[in-house]
Amino acid sequence: EYVNVGELFNYILNRFDMIIANDDKPEKYYTIKREITDSQIWVELDTSKFTQVVDNIMNNAIKYSPDGGVITARMIDRKTEVVLSITDQGLGIPKKDLGHIFDRFFRVDKARSRAQGGTGLGLAISKEIIERFGGKIWVDSSEGKGSTFSISLPYEAYDPAEDEWDDGEWDD
Ligand code: ATP
Ligand code: MG
Repeated sequence: EYVNVGELFNYILNRFDMIIANDDKPEKYYTIKREITDSQIWVELDTSKFTQVVDNIMNNAIKYSPDGGVITARMIDRKTEVVLSITDQGLGIPKKDLGHIFDRFFRVDKARSRAQGGTGLGLAISKEIIERFGGKIWVDSSEGKGSTFSISLPYEAYDPAEDEWDDGEWDD
């Protein structure tokens, strides 16, 4: 299905804002800063699969950051592709591990990660999903400073409101 990516991205992030608003004693405090273009970009993807990817990256950003961190969510229109990124101020990922982060069951520092819970599958599944949409996913990280996970999705200019093939009927 064709999805308005900016709208969907904002909607997914709203749910993370609500986690704080609805909880008296959240496990962790964080702030989400948004820098999201208001371009209407329509991409053919599966809403629930895309949500699963953003959920995993957001959950990681929270899980691997100290209390009170700022998470920045960005969306940039590069005309033939849209780039979404999530930046945290967390633990970061050691240089030697950067090449393995998307491998199945890989976790940085087994002991530390075990205490956090999880299986080490989230990013491997995310990569499979994004590549199935014809997109890319990658990470930039600096140990002790934080990480940025980015997703690029190719798109062609499309506006369902102007799609003559939609149903062939006009109400006005
Ligand atoms: P799961 O997602 O299956 O519950 P997980 O979070 O451990 O478990 P992934 O999401 O695949 O698995 O992440 C793999 C590993 O990459 C994590 O265990 C963690 O060591 C590291 N990692 C992922 N995201 C971050 C991040 N934002 N900051 C620091 N380390 C990260
Ligand atoms: Mg995860």
